Amino acid sequence: MSRFFLLFFIILVVLLAGCATAPSERLVDTCYLRGVSYISVASLARAYGLNWTYDSLSQTVRIAVANRQISLRVGDRFYLLDGQAQELKYPIDIYQGVVVVPYSFKRKVIEPLVKKTAPLAGAVAIKIRKVVVDAGHGGQDPGAISKVGVKEKDINLDIAKRLAALLQQKNISVIMTRNSDRFIPLEKRAEIANFSDADIFVSIHANSNRVRSFKGLEVYCINSKIDNTIRAQLVNNSVPLVRYKDCLLDNSPLLKTIVWDMILTANHVDSLMLAKDICRDARRLLGIDSEVIKEANFQVLRGTFMPGVLVEVGYLSNSEEERLLKNSWYRQQLAEVIMQGIIDYATRPDNGDI
Ligand SMILES: [Zn+2]
Repeated sequence: MSRFFLLFFIILVVLLAGCATAPSERLVDTCYLRGVSYISVASLARAYGLNWTYDSLSQTVRIAVANRQISLRVGDRFYLLDGQAQELKYPIDIYQGVVVVPYSFKRKVIEPLVKKTAPLAGAVAIKIRKVVVDAGHGGQDPGAISKVGVKEKDINLDIAKRLAALLQQKNISVIMTRNSDRFIPLEKRAEIANFSDADIFVSIHANSNRVRSFKGLEVYCINSKIDNTIRAQLVNNSVPLVRYKDCLLDNSPLLKTIVWDMILTANHVDSLMLAKDICRDARRLLGIDSEVIKEANFQVLRGTFMPGVLVEVGYLSNSEEERLLKNSWYRQQLAEVIMQGIIDYATRPDNGDI
């Protein structure tokens, strides 16, 4: 009988030891469960430099944030902040042996607590350190041309340069896919972005339509129906997982594809938030019509593997907007709207539920 207990004890120890190491550095960074984006506690803690522990017996995570204690239990729809229960919209979960929290937990709980102890500029830096600004068209490709001969490529480059300067003033680094009147193929633009280790991709364009009454700013996000698994397989061998390499157990193509799939899924959510923030600021700061368009299938967005949007700043085919786009003051206003949208996206604590 005592042998049986000894064996049982050994098995229990082995099992517990196995469980205890499970939530540490593992594959999962982000995942999608029942239609909701989740992020692993490990990567959340790593991103903000937080100390955390996991008790496998009670399946409880404890995170220390700025002298506050957060306690989470797998399966619960609430968390404890300094012992006080706070409601959660979605439950804490486990995915592939890793404790994951709803993505909104990061924005609604962790970020506000971190921000209270850091100046605003620091908070911006956490989410957005580097932006790829892509001025559409260029060189032999003029893009749209207005009735009086205004070329889209020139409008795009001017606004892109103004946006880059504004972002740099906020201590955000900028990579421009072009900073002169040059033709850059779409694949090259995506490649520049993918190898830049940037946080977001913003492409600047001006619109045109045979219906000359069309006007307003539109922000396009990639169509969420585009299969991320296929995109992940395509990107797998061509793009380095610079930022996510410490999440990988090895370099197997299958694991990389899974990680890319998760990253691309989370990127959809982030792109939509960014698009909404830019549109909101266009209405708020410039008083112009603006719309988020979710069904885009632009090659440059499909090929970039970070949250990204394509901003159509206005219609060159509309005489009123053509006149405005020719005005440098107005182009500066548009650059400021896009910059403010990026800052809002980077700092807004309450936009996690999409
Ligand atoms: Zn264009």
